Amino acid sequence: MRKWGPAVLSAVLAVMLSLAVTGPASASKKPRPKAPSKIVYFTFDDGPNSMNDPRLLRILAREQVPATFFVLGNLLAADRQRATELWLAGHAIGNHTWAHPDLTFLSPAAIHHEFAATQRLMGPGAGACMRPPYGATNSTVVDVARGLGLKQVLWTVDPQDYAHQNAAYLTSYISSRVHDKAIVLMHDGGGPRGATTSAVKQLIPILRARGYEFRTIPSCRVPLKGSATDAAKRKVRKPEPVVPDEPVPTPSAPAGMAP
Ligand SMILES: [Zn+2]
Repeated sequence: MRKWGPAVLSAVLAVMLSLAVTGPASASKKPRPKAPSKIVYFTFDDGPNSMNDPRLLRILAREQVPATFFVLGNLLAADRQRATELWLAGHAIGNHTWAHPDLTFLSPAAIHHEFAATQRLMGPGAGACMRPPYGATNSTVVDVARGLGLKQVLWTVDPQDYAHQNAAYLTSYISSRVHDKAIVLMHDGGGPRGATTSAVKQLIPILRARGYEFRTIPSCRVPLKGSATDAAKRKVRKPEPVVPDEPVPTPSAPAGMAP
C-alpha cells in the first residue's frame, strides 16, 4: 500500500474540516429556486345555484382548482349548508349582499343589513370579503363593509358571461386577457351557465400550460379547522395556507356592467 504524501494528507484534512463546518455538500445545497408562477383567481357570483353548481363543482374538484364564490344571502337562506359544503371542498366564500341591490342607492343602515344578514348565514367558511353587485361602490359602501370586517373585492377580467353564453368566446376572451393575479369575474347564478362551466373546463389546462396556478382570493379564505386526518376522513382537500393579502386591483370595466 502506497503511503500518502503530506500534500495528499493535508488536502484530506482540509476537506474533513470543511465538512465539519458546513456539513456534506448535498445537505447544505439549497433547492434550486422555482420559476415564479403566475396566479389566477376564478370567482363566481350570484349563487348558490342548484342548476349550475353541481357540474361546475365536479370540474373544479376533478382538476383540484380552488375558486371563490360570492354568494347571495336570499339564495343561501334556502340552502344553508351550501356555503359550508363549498368551504369544505376547498373553495372560498365571499359576501355578495342579501338581495343584489345597487348599494350606492342605499342608506348606510340598509347596506349594513345587506352584508350582515348574509354573513350570518355563511357559516364557518365565511370569508372577510365582499363584492358589491354590479361593482357599484362608493366610500359609504366600503366604510360599512369595513365596519363588518369585510374587504371589497372587485375584478380585473370581465368576460360578461351573462351576455355571451358561448364557451369558445368566453375561453378566448379570458385566455387572451388573463394576467398574473387576474381576478376573473364569472357567474354560477342568474340563469343557465353551461357556457361558463364549459369555458372553465377548457381554460384550466390552457392556463396551467402557460404557468398559471389557481388560488382563492386571500381575504375570502378561511383555513379549515381540525387536523389533516379529519379533513381526509371528510374526503376534502385541505385549503391553502393563509398568505398575506395582495392588493385588490381596480376593476377593468365600468361599474354597473355585471349582473
Ligand atoms: Zn352579482
